[in-house]
Amino acid sequence: MSASVIDGKARAAALRKSTAQAVAQIEKNHGFKPGLAVVLVGEDPASKVYVRNKAEQTKECGMNSFEHRLPEETSEADVIALVEKLNADESVDGILVQMPLPRQINEDKVVLAIDPKKDVDGLHPENAGRIVLGQPGLVPCTPQGSVILAKDAVGDLSGKEVLVIGRSILVGKPVSLLMQNENCTVTMAHSRTRDLADHCSRADIVVAAVGRPEMVKGEWLKKGATVIDVGINRVPAPERGEGKTKLVGDVDYESAEKVAGAITPVPGGVGPMTIACLLMNTVFAAMDSRGLERPSIS
Ligand code: NDP
Repeated sequence: MSASVIDGKARAAALRKSTAQAVAQIEKNHGFKPGLAVVLVGEDPASKVYVRNKAEQTKECGMNSFEHRLPEETSEADVIALVEKLNADESVDGILVQMPLPRQINEDKVVLAIDPKKDVDGLHPENAGRIVLGQPGLVPCTPQGSVILAKDAVGDLSGKEVLVIGRSILVGKPVSLLMQNENCTVTMAHSRTRDLADHCSRADIVVAAVGRPEMVKGEWLKKGATVIDVGINRVPAPERGEGKTKLVGDVDYESAEKVAGAITPVPGGVGPMTIACLLMNTVFAAMDSRGLERPSIS
């Protein structure tokens, strides 16, 4: 029997709808609209698409969207000056600086300049620390989206054996902490892990965030496991014509779906959840900064 497909696109649409309903209630009850500012430096084509999608979806949810486009050669000081201006701007509740930044700009310094209360990407050390401490804060979007999909598929995660493959600050580490906060027993694998297949065979949930196309094989999985594939890899697709490419995950979908109980596809799995969680975080940031209770968004 093949695995059930975890439809991240539909789940993200539901989350955005719930966010839009919360925004409408906030406007009615408190008389303001949350606002998200997105900063794009340079001309990276993928980043431009992300920023456009973020702006469109922010507006669709009824929030204010502020776009700041700066030229490739912008200095670090100028990016930080803009961030500081946005920190002080009361109409801006969330700030997202699109990564990667051009070489002359230190990304860590820019992230540090963002007011942690407006850090809707959840990358500031204060928000990272809050996850470690199990305190409420702003949770990074892709890890949050991964956990939501796992919960949808599995239900209560308490006591589940989770294998997180990858330990990056952006994905693997926060996923492992969020899973621990859900009372899972978490194993973290990385490039020095010995016998990854053996670790996989024990996991009820496998989260793959490696950046290696189709690395995780179906034969490694425990029967019925839930597979959350965070990977987005562009690979050649000669079957689609000369020079064509396609997106694949870090999991070999074809073999995995024969063994797994549920699996996220790529594209259409974790990917769409990232922006949906960003919009939800913007609402939370707007409420937190005004000392108001967060609405329930699901
Ligand atoms: P990084 O390159 O920062 O981290 C990759 C991790 O994988 C590292 O911890 C590395 O280990 C580990 N790793 C590398 N090779 C192996 C191996 N052979 N076996 C086990 N572990 C290995 O990547 P990111 O975390 O930023 O991204 C991971 C994937 O997720 C990428 O495909 C990226 O495109 C995708 N992604 C998707 C997003 C979305 O859906 N919106 C958002 C962000 C990322 P070590 O630490 O030892 O080097």
